[in-house]
Amino acid sequence: MNTQLNQGGAYATFSGECFEVINPATATPFAVLNSSSTAEIDHTVKQAVKAFETWKQVTDTEIHVLFSAIAIDIRSQKAEIARLITQEQGKPLFLAEVEVELGAGWIEHLRDTEIPVEQYEEANGKVIRVYNKPIGVVASITPWNWPFMIAIWHLFPALKTKNCVINKPSEYTPLSTIKLIEIINRHLPAGVCGIVLGKGDVGAHLTAHPDIGKVAFTGSTRTGQAILKKSVDSLKSVVLELGGNDAAIVLEDADLDNVAEKIFGSAFLNMGQTCTAIKRLYVHEGIYDALIEKLLAMAQAQVIGSGLDPAVTFGPVQNVMQYQKVKALIDNAIAQGAAVLTAETKVPEHGYFIAPTIIGDLLAGTALIDQEQFGPVLPIIRFNDIQSVIAEANRSEFGLGGSVWSADIAKAEAVAQQLETGTVWINRHAEMSPNAAFCGWKMSGLGHAFGLSGLLQFTKKQAIHINP
Ligand code: NDP
Repeated sequence: MNTQLNQGGAYATFSGECFEVINPATATPFAVLNSSSTAEIDHTVKQAVKAFETWKQVTDTEIHVLFSAIAIDIRSQKAEIARLITQEQGKPLFLAEVEVELGAGWIEHLRDTEIPVEQYEEANGKVIRVYNKPIGVVASITPWNWPFMIAIWHLFPALKTKNCVINKPSEYTPLSTIKLIEIINRHLPAGVCGIVLGKGDVGAHLTAHPDIGKVAFTGSTRTGQAILKKSVDSLKSVVLELGGNDAAIVLEDADLDNVAEKIFGSAFLNMGQTCTAIKRLYVHEGIYDALIEKLLAMAQAQVIGSGLDPAVTFGPVQNVMQYQKVKALIDNAIAQGAAVLTAETKVPEHGYFIAPTIIGDLLAGTALIDQEQFGPVLPIIRFNDIQSVIAEANRSEFGLGGSVWSADIAKAEAVAQQLETGTVWINRHAEMSPNAAFCGWKMSGLGHAFGLSGLLQFTKKQAIHINP
């Protein structure tokens, strides 16, 4: 059976090779979809190019009305969308609902953002106006960890700035994105927002297409580099949000009663499968034992199982590739003499389950410290010298996020200023805001998202010099 989507009244058919969508809580397929053939990808791009001719003239007022209607539509289907997210991604239902709600709120924030026009008045009555114009057709490649929300993070800045956009969701989690595109297409003209499906070379074919003017990608550094290399011939602009290995530094004066739960929550957020999850926890030796005790109690209290069960607080890892990668990092740390501090916990027999795992006594150079685990395992490292720990936190190829935890905000901010990452939180971690630029330093990205400047990454400048 071919997959069919309603795209603004016209049907898009995907007739390429079949692929299965696996429920990670059972490790069994629960949907089968067709990939887009090369001809279908080309056709989707062609439709977007055509739609751009009228969409680029849409007014800001019309966009305001359309985005409002889409946000309402998403909220009205929150339960259904959340269920799809849980089935394909694995996260517990309550977290899937948060994902949907955050997504709808993000659309409303963008709806209310104004695209500025700069104006300069120069000598002899000359006026220059600098406009932010749409680029054309944007390709968006989104990952499997927050499939619905990250699709919104890509699609709506592109649409707000009057581009057309084509999404390629991860083959692991396409269903909630398909639902999103269907909702969008109930409101926007045909061709403005399209989707292609599949695995293998669908993403590569789409992003290399000569009629694509910009690529937005969230995923691994390796694939981001491949996209960047391919963009050279047509000078496409790219925005890459890649991996991270975020360090959290807990100073001796941190109020553990207040921060322990937040630390646990941001290390194991989405079972650790979040680019800005805490991936290395550096704790001052004066509070190391006390913090570990609290974190272990929280790990022990998790109810592990299928996210569809409302009692469950901790779901599976999303796919078998990631499951094996995380298991291998844990085994490697143990082989190097590290200690698993969490008690052994029984997990469901089927599915890609790994209980929240906290590991201590790691040696410098252990892969679990140096690589991005992207899963439910947290290395915890004691320190006593702040300058050495800052140097250790910065000794990473990544530079996405970091955090400092302390009761003394001025002291924490002084440490934050020395971290080599695009975002630093104080007494929080992994908290995203549509207002602030989100930027990966070093191998964590290129360009940035969010804030007005992130939105303007989907535009090109046009300066009009007006002489009287
Ligand atoms: P990848 O980073 O390899 O991304 C896979 C997606 O990219 C697929 O949709 C694929 O589609 C597309 N793709 C692959 N090659 C190209 C290309 N040359 N041009 C355009 N698109 C391309 O993710 P994986 O799922 O394999 O995960 C690998 C690692 O990435 C994880 O272990 C994790 O560490 C990290 N990750 C990071 C995330 C983040 O939020 N930063 C999110 C998810 C994973 P197609 O096959 O059709 O080309």
